[in-house]
Amino acid sequence: MDTDRYRVKPGSKVGLAAWDPADDGGLDKVDGQAQLEKERFELARLQELLYADGRHKLLVVLQAIDAGGKDGTIRSVFERVNPQGVEVTSFKRPTDVEVAHDYLWRVHQHVPRSGILSIFNRSHYEDVLVVRVHGLVPKAQWSKRYGHIKAFEQMLIDEGTTVRKFLLHISKEEQRVRQQERIDDPSKNWKFAKADLEERKHWDAYQAAFEDMVTKTSTAASPWYVIPANRNWYRNLLVTTVLNEALRGLGLRYPPPEEGIAGLVVN
Ligand code: AMP
Ligand code: MG
Repeated sequence: MDTDRYRVKPGSKVGLAAWDPADDGGLDKVDGQAQLEKERFELARLQELLYADGRHKLLVVLQAIDAGGKDGTIRSVFERVNPQGVEVTSFKRPTDVEVAHDYLWRVHQHVPRSGILSIFNRSHYEDVLVVRVHGLVPKAQWSKRYGHIKAFEQMLIDEGTTVRKFLLHISKEEQRVRQQERIDDPSKNWKFAKADLEERKHWDAYQAAFEDMVTKTSTAASPWYVIPANRNWYRNLLVTTVLNEALRGLGLRYPPPEEGIAGLVVN
């Protein structure tokens, strides 16, 4: 599985039109799903090791357009993982108290502590996405945030955090299909708001904001992956595989046993 072709190389300029959202890596769906199931068990094994080891922290950032598949990714990728070692934060529109602070204030308190894998369902990147698209603050203000965010993430990395960031990339047609389903299927109505149709009108502005985001903030230690996300199974397989690669790279180990327990017999 070649995940590296989906990684945004620092210094390269991303044009999303060149990234095929329907890419399936040439894999057959049944084979891909079987591979995904193996990777999920591997993630569960590595996550337990992360927890037991207790020296590292893992931050997973998910961003996407409306109906891009953030919730489905979380549900599927972490299906086998022990919930005790995982924390999910879904960043909604900031409260009055939150907007009265700097934009990183509400984010910092949710970063992972040692041994924990934290998932950001949306993140501080909303402050250069929705905020930019809707001009919620002036350009002079949001345009400085790419630099702050890089510095913030570098600080987390220097303090023992591993960061992996995923932009789930769907086509405009796929968004249409998914939004239509949310309207037509009563069990999906709760996911839909009329405002989502308004947001869809800003498709191009969002794509431009995504392009700048990944271009300006993908670094060697805090990389963005542009994940083709029209096909849920391939999206899930890629995200799971990237996380497993990251965790394997940490050299995780069980902590040494307490001295003098070898040979002890329990009566
Ligand atoms: P959902 O993910 O469908 O529950 O929607 C969450 C909403 O919160 C989306 O419309 C986001 O754009 C919005 N949101 C998240 N973070 C921010 C932010 N920093 N500023 C403004 N809106 C935000
Ligand atoms: Mg929504």
